[in-house]
Amino acid sequence: MEGSETAYCNQCRRDVQYHFDPVKHRKQILLTIISFGLWLPVWMCIAFSPTKLCNACNGPIWDGGT
Ligand SMILES: [Zn+2]
Repeated sequence: MEGSETAYCNQCRRDVQYHFDPVKHRKQILLTIISFGLWLPVWMCIAFSPTKLCNACNGPIWDGGT
């Protein structure tokens, strides 16, 4: 389970190791307040499915590509 998982990065065009983007909850709270709570569902989505980030270029990796 340690650091051996890889995913394909579209930017690097190769399999890379990745890490998860830590959710910045302070920013999400701010966005929720600004949007009068409309941001809350988005925040929940982000919190439960963190974005994979490429270790090489730090870009987001999206699953489901063929
Ligand atoms: Zn990359």
